[in-house]
Amino acid sequence: MSAFRSVPTPLLDLERAWAVRDEDPVLARHLALTFRPAAPAPPQVDVVLAYLEWRDGNLPASLHRSHQAIRDLQREPLSAWHGRAVNTLACLESRLNRPDQAVRLYDEQIRVARQVQDDELEASGQHDLGVELRASDPDRAREHVLTALQRFRQLGYGFGVAIALTNLAQFAQDAGQHEQALTYLEEALTYPGLHHRPEVEAEAVHTTLLSLDALGRTTRVPELEARLAALAAQNPGSELRIDVALALTRHGDPHLALRLLPPEVEFARSLGTHVSLPRLHEALSRAHAELGHDHDALLHLRATLDFERATHASERRKVYRSLEVLHRIQALEEAAENERRQSAALQEHVRELQALNDRIRELSRTDGLTGLSNRDHLFRRGETLALNATPDAPLGVAIIDIDHFKAVNDTYGHPFGDTVLRRLAGLLREHAAPQDVIARYGGEEFVLLRPAEAAEDLARTAQHVVDAIRNLTWPDLPHPFRVTVSIGVAEATTPDFEMALATADRHLYHVKHTGRDGVAWHT
Ligand code: GH3
Ligand code: MG
Ligand code: MG
Repeated sequence: MSAFRSVPTPLLDLERAWAVRDEDPVLARHLALTFRPAAPAPPQVDVVLAYLEWRDGNLPASLHRSHQAIRDLQREPLSAWHGRAVNTLACLESRLNRPDQAVRLYDEQIRVARQVQDDELEASGQHDLGVELRASDPDRAREHVLTALQRFRQLGYGFGVAIALTNLAQFAQDAGQHEQALTYLEEALTYPGLHHRPEVEAEAVHTTLLSLDALGRTTRVPELEARLAALAAQNPGSELRIDVALALTRHGDPHLALRLLPPEVEFARSLGTHVSLPRLHEALSRAHAELGHDHDALLHLRATLDFERATHASERRKVYRSLEVLHRIQALEEAAENERRQSAALQEHVRELQALNDRIRELSRTDGLTGLSNRDHLFRRGETLALNATPDAPLGVAIIDIDHFKAVNDTYGHPFGDTVLRRLAGLLREHAAPQDVIARYGGEEFVLLRPAEAAEDLARTAQHVVDAIRNLTWPDLPHPFRVTVSIGVAEATTPDFEMALATADRHLYHVKHTGRDGVAWHT
C-alpha cells in the first residue's frame, strides 16, 4: 500500500479499479461507474473505462474516452494516470494500423512514467513498444522487451516476466532461433502465478510446441499437449479451449481434427465470436479434403470465406468509425485552438484599449508642458478635498506666481521661459508631500493644495520654495540671472474651494505690491 500513500482516499477506489482491470474487468467497471465523489466524474474514471472498452473491442468509444481523459488530465498535475490513458490510446492506434502514432504514444508513456517515477508504467511502455516494433524493427523490438523484462524482474512482477519471455521467444522464432526461444519459454513456464492467467500459459505452451516441432523434437510434446488439454478442461467457458484444440491438431492429423474441432465450432457459435470460426472451418476443410470428403471440404471452405469476409467487414467498419471519431476530435481540437487564439488576440486588443484609455485620462488631467495637473483637474480635486475641510483639518492652498515673467520671455526668449516653467514645476514636486496636489493654474501661475494643513504651516513650506527658487543657478545663460516667485497662501475650512483660492490670490497681490519674492498668508 505504500505506493498509494500520497493518493487522496477516494482515488484509491480508482487505483484499485486500475489494478484489477485485467483480472476482474467487471469489478473494475463497477468501481469506476460507482465512483461519484464529484460531478462531473474525474478523468481517472474515463481512463479506466477507456481501457475496458478497448479490451472489449469497442474501439470508437475507447478512442473517444481516452482523448477526453487526456485532455481533462492536462488540468491536473502530471500523474501515472496520464501515462495509462496514453497507453490505451497507443494500443488503439496499433489496432487501427497506425504504427507510427502508436510508437509515438508509447514513447510518450515512457517519458511520463519516468517523470512520475512509475517503474511498472515505464516497463509496460517499453514492453508494448517492443511488441509494436516486432515486424518493422526486430533488433529494437528485442532491446525494448529485454529492458522491460529486466525491470519486471526487479519489480518482482512475475506476470510481466512471463509475458515478456513469451514475446522474446516469439521474436526468436521469427529469426529462426528455436533453441533460444525454448530457453525463454522454459523460464516463462516456471512462473508460479501462471495458472491465474491460463491464456498466457496456453500461449507459452503453444509457442514451445511450435519450436519443438521446428527442431523435430518429440520427447516433451505429449507432456505439453497434456498440459494444454488440461488448461482447456479447466476453462470450459473460455475461448481458450478453441485455441487449445487448434494447437493440438496443428500437425493436420485429419481424424484428430474431425474429433476435436466440430464441438469447438458449436462452442464458438454459442459465444457469438466470429474470430475463431474461420480458423476452425479452415482446419476442418483441410481434414475433410485429406479424407476425400470433397463436399464437406468445400462447405467448410465456403464457411471459412464467409466468416473471413464478415470479420474483415466488421473490422473495417470499426476502423472507419474510429477514424471518424478521430477526425471529429481533431476538428474539435482545432476549433478550440482557434477560439483560444482569437480570444488571446481579443484580450490583447482590450489591454491596448485600456492602456490608451489610461493614457487619455492621464492626458486629460495633466498639463502638457510641466506634467503637473491642469486647471480642470485642479478644480475637481480641490472641490473634492474641500468637502472634508474643517477648522481642525483645513485644506491648505498656495498660489505661486513668477515675478516679472514677461521680462524673462522678452529678454531670453519664449523657449527659455518654458525651461523656467518646467524647472519650477520640478522644484515644486521636490517640496511637495505625497498627498499634495500640484497644478499649473495659468500661464506662469501654479497652485499647491495640501490636505489637513493650516495656512500658517503651509506658508513655511512656501517660504522654502521662494528661497530655493531664488538660489537656482542657470548655467546656460551668458549673464547672472535670478528667478523669483511670489506666493499667496490661504486655507479652506468649508467646502467653498473657490473662496479659499480667491483669498490666496488676494494674499499673492499683497506680496506683488510689497516687493515680490516672498510669501503672505494673511493681510
Ligand atoms: P508679475 O511679476 O506682476 O507677475 O509680472 P509678470 O510679467 O509675471 O506678469 P504678466 O501676467 O504680465 O505676464 C505673464 C507672462 O507669462 C505673459 C506671458 O507671455 C507669459 N507666459 C504665459 N504662459 C507662458 C508659457 O507657456 N510659456 C512662456 N514662455 N511664457 C508664458
Ligand atoms: Mg501672473
Ligand atoms: Mg507673474
